[in-house]
Amino acid sequence: MSKRKNSAAAQVTRFFIVLLSVCLIGIIAIFGFKLLPVGGDDTSAPDTSSVLGEPTKAPDTTVPDITVVTSPDTTVDTTAPDTTVPDTTVPDTTVPDTTVPTPPEPTYDLSAWYLTLVNPWNKLSVEYIDTIELTKVNGKQVDVRMVEPLKQMLNDCYEANKTTKNGCEGKPLVCSGFRSQATQENLFTKKINNIKKAKPGISDDEAYALAAKEVAIPGTSEHQLGLAVDIVCCVEHYNLDAQKTKVRQQWLIDNCHKYGFILRYPADKTDVTGIIYEPWHYRYVGVEVATEIMSRGICFEEWLAEQKAQ
Ligand SMILES: [Zn+2]
Ligand SMILES: [Zn+2]
Repeated sequence: MSKRKNSAAAQVTRFFIVLLSVCLIGIIAIFGFKLLPVGGDDTSAPDTSSVLGEPTKAPDTTVPDITVVTSPDTTVDTTAPDTTVPDTTVPDTTVPDTTVPTPPEPTYDLSAWYLTLVNPWNKLSVEYIDTIELTKVNGKQVDVRMVEPLKQMLNDCYEANKTTKNGCEGKPLVCSGFRSQATQENLFTKKINNIKKAKPGISDDEAYALAAKEVAIPGTSEHQLGLAVDIVCCVEHYNLDAQKTKVRQQWLIDNCHKYGFILRYPADKTDVTGIIYEPWHYRYVGVEVATEIMSRGICFEEWLAEQKAQ
């Protein structure tokens, strides 16, 4: 009885063991196949390579391919910020470029009274004439706004050349200052009359053209501004052509800029100024502009053209 009971129980347990083992095999088989392809991607690569017959070359080429691809990718990434660095330096250089031309602009106000241009092509305006206020230096009229630097210049010229006489005595003198429109018209008319006397039968137009070469047409003389003066080295030398040889005149040419004056009609700029070489005619333009013009050897017209071009 007990043996049969035992054998029956043993048969039941054997059945369950078999069933369980079958189930386990089934579970292992299902999960095993599911797990295999996951890990099999790594193994499938050498498997296919082994099928191709190049088991070592295939993985060797894929591995360096990955490292080669990734290494240039990282070098491209490092070169990319390298190109962005010069990109930031380029706008840095453009910023000072834009700041460089800006400072000269506010430095000079070209409409300032002391920068007024009068020459054969630029007549003095009636509006400007109305603003002129005059005073006298050794009997000649000049603009009140430049009389102090003018007096200082004449004084310093005398002091600096006291010992070098060479027939020159006393202080340098202003022999021509401000001229009114009427004065300039009288000068011009006198010139025309002299030409007509010297050349009888000359036409009015020809006489006018000849006169204009020696005397400024009324309205175009810088002397009408009150900012121009003719200076002779001393009282004995009213022959203006002799001035270029005089020590005091040379001192004025070298030092006039310190007082705000320029030698207005240089020898090498007659085409630009429209006026012959005049080593006695000085024009007030202020110390800054005078220093720039005299140090660079340019004339007022050239300086103005540069400023207007900016
Ligand atoms: Zn002299
Ligand atoms: Zn003059």
